[in-house]
Amino acid sequence: MAEQGLLLVISGPSGCGKDTIIHEVLQHLDGEGFLSVSMTTRPKRGEEVHGVHYYFVSEAEFLQNVQNDQMLEYAQYGENYYGTPVGPIRALLSQGKTVILNIEVTGGKNVRRLLPFAVEVFVAPPSLKELRRRLEKRGTETPDAIETRMEIATRELACAKDYDYIVINDALEDAVQDVLAIIRTSKLKKENMLNKLSEVTDYAES
Ligand code: 5GP
Repeated sequence: MAEQGLLLVISGPSGCGKDTIIHEVLQHLDGEGFLSVSMTTRPKRGEEVHGVHYYFVSEAEFLQNVQNDQMLEYAQYGENYYGTPVGPIRALLSQGKTVILNIEVTGGKNVRRLLPFAVEVFVAPPSLKELRRRLEKRGTETPDAIETRMEIATRELACAKDYDYIVINDALEDAVQDVLAIIRTSKLKKENMLNKLSEVTDYAES
């Protein structure tokens, strides 16, 4: 049987570059890593594709999924609901894969409580000024929505201390290498290695 995979939670303020870091990390993991596709009630943005970036659903459908225990966790962010469908995660972890959850801090807290083996990384921007600049440059939010995201960001930064690791996204490639190092180290934790060690000792005794 494949050993249990790695569940990696990545949180951080909107605009801090989480999505780009995750995209690059998945390229490096080359088929061994998967991004959990969340369900949301927020409207589609730009080039986003249903089933790839999110499952875009109505509020009624979202709440139905919550009621049917289909969500590992969910949270309200701004005006909208976001949640993690549990089925695909169970399947991928049982195949020994690395699964990345790109979720906000309430979700991070809930996953920590429900699945303590999850490894949690907080991605921070180099400064709030730089975060605002990135959100404005992205151009996907109205000025009001940017203000809301900046307010949420300040609250989110206060939660960084509850995460296992903090990565500051100043230079993208450094941040990507930091996350890859966290993944490599987490896979070497004794909880993940004891099975392999018993193979080593069995071999020595035979
Ligand atoms: P955005 O609207 O920019 O795509 O996402 C807004 C926030 O929702 C981001 O911080 C993102 O990480 C978070 N988010 C996305 N999917 C989920 C989810 O399934 N659960 C939770 N708790 N947060 C999510």
